[in-house]
Amino acid sequence: MSDFRRWPSIRQNGEMNAWVVHQPGPIDSGPLQRLERQVPIPFGRQIRVRVTCCGVCRTDLHLAEGDLLPKRPDVTPGHEVVGIVDALGDSASRFSVGDRVGVAWLGGTDGSCRFCRRGQENLCTTPTFTGWDTDGGYADFCLVDEAFGYELPTGIDDEHLAPLLCAGIIGYRALVCAAVPPGGALGIYGFGGSAHLTAQVALAQGLRVHVLTRGEANRKLAAELGADSVGEAQDAPPEPLDGAILFAPAGDLVPSALRGLDRGGTLAVAGIWLSDIPVLNYDDTLFQERKLRSVTANTRADGETFLSLAERLGVRATTVGYPMSEAPQALADLRHGRFSGAAVLHN
Ligand SMILES: [Zn+2]
Ligand SMILES: [Zn+2]
Repeated sequence: MSDFRRWPSIRQNGEMNAWVVHQPGPIDSGPLQRLERQVPIPFGRQIRVRVTCCGVCRTDLHLAEGDLLPKRPDVTPGHEVVGIVDALGDSASRFSVGDRVGVAWLGGTDGSCRFCRRGQENLCTTPTFTGWDTDGGYADFCLVDEAFGYELPTGIDDEHLAPLLCAGIIGYRALVCAAVPPGGALGIYGFGGSAHLTAQVALAQGLRVHVLTRGEANRKLAAELGADSVGEAQDAPPEPLDGAILFAPAGDLVPSALRGLDRGGTLAVAGIWLSDIPVLNYDDTLFQERKLRSVTANTRADGETFLSLAERLGVRATTVGYPMSEAPQALADLRHGRFSGAAVLHN
């Protein structure tokens, strides 16, 4: 309970700083704008979170650049939020003021559609996403429905937790979707924030991991983390792959990634956005029961499983910290591949 009191209190006029996507466009054209906004008031099951750290996800970049159409004007991005609960809605009871909490991409579901009823809430027909439908963590405060907040493992600090909340969780779901049998070979195409966490889980599970990516720094990080082989994005892997994950948002890698699969292998596309996939030759890429599938968001159960696994396996994010005031710079650096691992904004 004592920790949160160290944070500065809300300004006298009740306002806070928040970044918003004002004019979607190329990141170097300045799509983000910094505003002063009223600190939000939690209603019902909502809790208010004083943001300590927010990870920078590629989805934020897609939103800023207009690849993802905004759900509403001037939305605050950010869905890898670590913070402290500082106020409760009148029917919120899961967390207490002062608790550390995580806020992730899936911010709400209807709980009643055919997908929610069968345990596939990631496919909910009326979902709410943090930092797209609702204001996210590029701000001093944000709100979340308590049922969608995450209790966080105690052994990991805020900066290293933040990237786990989307990059980590989605990567974990993609790894499950790639369906590599025990002791099998996994290919990872693209090696950024999500891939470098997923590789650690796969290696800890005893898979052989082959990383195919552009960027010398990314290849170096992959080698340091213990990848069995590291190559260029378009290279053929050194052995047929039982499963592969495409993290790079590059549809032109799909044919070569499918060619890299063994019979019956699965290629899981992890991103929310992908450039167009070239025409596929059936015999060359799909026959022999190779499978191409997407990965869409995650269930809360995926998130809880991954967070406990991350703590137990010692999954550690490689991070680059930025002050919250430099959010546009962090996005530009992500766009231009100027760092490896994951950027994290600090308040
Ligand atoms: Zn639903
Ligand atoms: Zn994300």
